[in-house]
Amino acid sequence: MKIYSSKQQIIAEKLDSDAVLEKWKDWRWQRRHVITSIDTFEYLSGIRFTQNKKKELVKTVQKFPLSITPYYFSLIEFEDYNNDPIFKQAFPSPSELIISASDMRDPLYEEKDSPVSSITHRYPDRVLFHVSNICSMYCRHCTRKRKVGDHDSIPSKQVLTEGIDFIKKTPQIRDVLLSGGDPLMLSDGYLDWLLGELSRIPHLEVIRIGTRVPVVLPYRITKELVLTLSKYQPLWINTHFNHPREITLSSRLALKMLADAGFPLGNQTVLLAGVNDCPRIIKRLVHKLVQNRVRPYYLYQCDLSEGLTHLRTSVGKGIEIIESLIGHTSGFCVPTYVIDAPGGGGKIPIMPNYLISWSTNKVVLRNYEGVITTYKEPDSYEPVFCDRNCDECTLQLKLDDADEMRSVGIAKLLDDSQQTFSLIPEENERLERRTINE
Ligand SMILES: *Cc1c(COP(=O)(O)O)cnc(C)c1O
Repeated sequence: MKIYSSKQQIIAEKLDSDAVLEKWKDWRWQRRHVITSIDTFEYLSGIRFTQNKKKELVKTVQKFPLSITPYYFSLIEFEDYNNDPIFKQAFPSPSELIISASDMRDPLYEEKDSPVSSITHRYPDRVLFHVSNICSMYCRHCTRKRKVGDHDSIPSKQVLTEGIDFIKKTPQIRDVLLSGGDPLMLSDGYLDWLLGELSRIPHLEVIRIGTRVPVVLPYRITKELVLTLSKYQPLWINTHFNHPREITLSSRLALKMLADAGFPLGNQTVLLAGVNDCPRIIKRLVHKLVQNRVRPYYLYQCDLSEGLTHLRTSVGKGIEIIESLIGHTSGFCVPTYVIDAPGGGGKIPIMPNYLISWSTNKVVLRNYEGVITTYKEPDSYEPVFCDRNCDECTLQLKLDDADEMRSVGIAKLLDDSQQTFSLIPEENERLERRTINE
């Protein structure tokens, strides 16, 4: 049987003279035929780089390796490949070797906030669990670019057991996010073991999987995989579409299989210069996502990882995109735009300003059309002094299993029961003078 398009047919036959649709749709075949060299890329695309360009590309690939699935490769439109959003996400640019002063190997301090090698513990109640070192396609904008292609291996059960044990003995963790690499590059059997171990931890309420498989290797979503994952609901799946062109027949089928099995689906997009830094492109993307039952979750400002300088946009571009979405389209189409704080501060949401001014009983707001309006606050609202003694409170919480409430950070400044009225940076000259004067 013929492969979906004649372009895919030609690519497949160049890679494997017996290629048929069954092979093309077999994710193992796709894996075996990933494109990892500039030579193969030239052979399959018909593009010929100049000697100089090729030298630069080979040098780039030595530092940051290349890997593209035949499927994702087939989405590139070669007539204008230099501007192609698929090409730009998959094919190296010599600009990756330009490291700017603000770039960092590990900007999010994932390795510093790491109690055991496979875990990043940043937030109080949830952890990132690095369960796979493998990706079928190496995104040029990878935030973990430092690790790409390092050791394309599956972490041993022993390494993962360390992570599982850490979660077991840390009862405040209620949410674990499987990441990598791509967790869905693990075999069904290995995933079954891992999810089985996690699902037996009593304090874990949800498991999440972050994967780009529906985008770059949709054939990995097989009936058998879906059956395996289905045993471990509630399981949330977040994928990573960056451009509407990535939503193809094959990827839509993969999303359908996951949505039909009842997994809540989300999407995390990275804002990338020359790929999707345009309100119209993002709007088209989010509309196509929700049509396929995928809720846009985050829009990321591109991280300060080494080798990504040429892909970064200004923050203003992100705000402009969010401005073009809020009010203009369905609320559930709008992702939260975030900057993942360098140094491990976590994701910080960024929004256009809607609150224009404020008096003692009135707020002034503007809407997406530019209409300026007021909201009159009630004269009768009696502020309740909250001493966090819920047993005496008239509000009926009455949940024996309600979470303990311990305020930290800005929430602590707002907490009536706390004495803290300011947060002071560790090195504050004024306070240092004070201790000297005392
Ligand atoms: C993004 C992230 C999470 C999850 O954050 P949410 O806002 O809950 O999606 C958890 N841990 C780390 C280290 C992260 O980077």
